[in-house]
Formats: sequence, C-alpha cells, structure tokens
Amino acid sequence: MIYLDNAATTPMDSEVIAAMHEVMNTNYGNPSSVHWYGRKSRVLVEEARVEIASIVQAKPSEIYFTSSATEAISTAIYGAVRDLGIRNIITSAIEHHAVLHTLDAVHRAYPIQVSFVRLDKNGLINFDHLQELLDDIEPALVILMHANNEIGTLYPIARIAKLCKNYNSFYLTDTVQTMGKYAINFLEMGADFATCSAHKFHGPKGSGFLYISDRVSIKPLIDGGGQERNLRSGTENVCGIAGMAKAFEVAYRDLEMNANHIAGLKSLFVEKLQKAFPDIIFNAASHNSGLYNIIHVSFPNAYRNQMLLQNLDIHGIATSGGSACASGTVATSHVLSAIHAITEMPSVRFSLSKFNTLEEVDDTMRVLKKILL
Ligand code: PLP
Repeated sequence: MIYLDNAATTPMDSEVIAAMHEVMNTNYGNPSSVHWYGRKSRVLVEEARVEIASIVQAKPSEIYFTSSATEAISTAIYGAVRDLGIRNIITSAIEHHAVLHTLDAVHRAYPIQVSFVRLDKNGLINFDHLQELLDDIEPALVILMHANNEIGTLYPIARIAKLCKNYNSFYLTDTVQTMGKYAINFLEMGADFATCSAHKFHGPKGSGFLYISDRVSIKPLIDGGGQERNLRSGTENVCGIAGMAKAFEVAYRDLEMNANHIAGLKSLFVEKLQKAFPDIIFNAASHNSGLYNIIHVSFPNAYRNQMLLQNLDIHGIATSGGSACASGTVATSHVLSAIHAITEMPSVRFSLSKFNTLEEVDDTMRVLKKILL
C-alpha cells in the first residue's frame, strides 16, 4: 500500500502519538477545573499555545484553539461580517469549500457582496484586478489562501496583506497547506486571520487553530462556558492540542531535511512521469512551481482511463482527483474549472510527505504504466 494523498491528511508521527498517549493517560482533568487535575491540563494547553505561537511568530493571545481549520474559517468570516461590519468580500474561485460554502451561507443570511479576483491558468491572482476591486469596495474582507490544496499554487501573502492594509481592509489567509511545511511568520506576514489544521502535518485530526491578530476583535461563533478567552466555548481538546503542539515541534525541528527530501522526490517523480507519458499535462505548472509536495497531472486522451483513481486504488496506491470530499464522491473539481483546465481528462493529485520513498515512486510509476500504456 502506498499513500500519496498527504494533502488530504497525513499519517500521524510516532512522536505525536507518544505525546498524546501520555496526555490521555495522565491529563484527564478539565482545564477549567480549579483543582490539581484541572490546573495540570490548563498548564498543558497554555504551554502548547506558547510553543505554537513562538514557532509562527505570534503572541500566545492571538492563537485560538478550534476543532478544525473549517471552524477557524467560519469563525473569522462570520466574525468579520457580524462584528466588523464587513459587507464586501473579495476572494478567489479556487479557495477551499470551507471558505466558498461558508460564503454561500453567509450570503444567504447577511447583505454581503462577494467578488472574485481574476486568476491566470496557474491559479495566480491578478494583482491589478485585486486592486481595482479594492478601489471600488473598500473596506473589504479579502480571503486568499497561502497555498491551494489541489494544484499547489502559492500566493504571496505578505504582498496581499500589504495591499489590504493600504485599503483599510481585513485579510484572512488559509494557511492549512503551508503550516508545518514552510517557515511561517505571522508578524511579518501582516494578515488579520490565519488558519491551521494539525492533521495536515502529521498531527491529530480534530485539532486546529484560528490566528487573530490582536489588532482585531470579533465575537464567538460558539457560545457556552467561555473557553478560549470567550471566543470559542467548549471544553478544550487537551490531548489534540498537545498533539498539535508536538506536531509543530517535530515539523519545525526537521523542516529543512523534510522539505529537501520531499522536493527531491517530487522532482524525480516529475522526471519519470514526463519520460513515461510525454504528453502529460502538469496542471498549474505543478511540476516546477507551487507547493513542494503536490503534483497535479492530467493524462490526455491517448491514456484515457476514467477509472484511473479507482484503478490506482485497486493496485494499492491512494491518490486523489482533488480535494477529499466528505461524501466520498469524485466530483468535477471547482479548482480545475476555475483555472480552465480540461476537466474531461483523467487527472490525479499526487501529494507527498516525509514518509514517502523513492521505491514508492518507482512502484507508482510501474502501476501507472501498467494501467495507462
Ligand atoms: N483549507 C484547506 C486549504 C484545506 O486543504 C483543508 C482541508 O482539506 C481545509 C481548509 C479544511 O481543513 P479541515 O477539514 O481540517 O477543517
């Protein structure tokens, strides 16, 4: 079995599992309880916050633990519309559904206008158009991700943040696919909101956070016991938070080594694909740009095989056609449609992690040739 779907989720690191196991055994106190057990859990949660904040160059008070990046995105969008008076939102058509479907829901509930910035064929934004949109509708909430989860396109978020500042607008960036893979500096980045989901970099599922710059103040999406300084009620996921902190520690300790390993594998994989399938299409130039762990390819008609993903699965190779859809269905990718890629061809996203090996790439190539040639 070969796992090449690491943009959907990653296997957990053994160090993370060990840390969580220890917490599950010894830290069952509720962090809000005043007794020894509670205080012990509280210390763990706050230490995790301090550790994560120091890695991403934020203040601990700017990190709010959530159940997921999806919750973080919803909290930020609803907060901006409800509490910051935002009526104009600028985004792109290749954002994750956590953004686009939330905007649909917010649009039904509030009188907001959503504008989409023009993209080129690689999914990069047209800055002149972004500026034009901001000229017309300042102040806005701009939502543009750091890296796209399907095609790997990377956005220059510091430049976007600067533009937003010039227009008195707020900036939410979805950093889910870059967190744990790139050095992140929230202080320099200058965004108002950013997101994290621990399972994307070998941490546990169900644990994430919302970064909110201390320049900004919003109200909670979830009311209750007042946890997370009143922004996100609900007893803290102590074990998940500790696991996320461990995943951060491990990811940033070994960042360069892992990045070199994964980028090296990606370039060998690309070379082999080009050699075996000369007319292969690398969507959004994913062969030589974007995230160092994503290759998104389409196989032209000569290699038509509409059941490609299923065939790879039958041969023990887990890949994806795009984002992991909750229903398990493979729908036409909104990302490929938005960049006008040819969606009729069988396409595959290979997403790598530090656990993948050259042997796995070779085995995958053998299977691809068997299926397609
Ligand atoms: N944003 C991006 C770019 C993602 O890739 C994902 C997960 O696929 C999410 C948001 C949502 O993350 P989660 O499902 O962990 O909430």
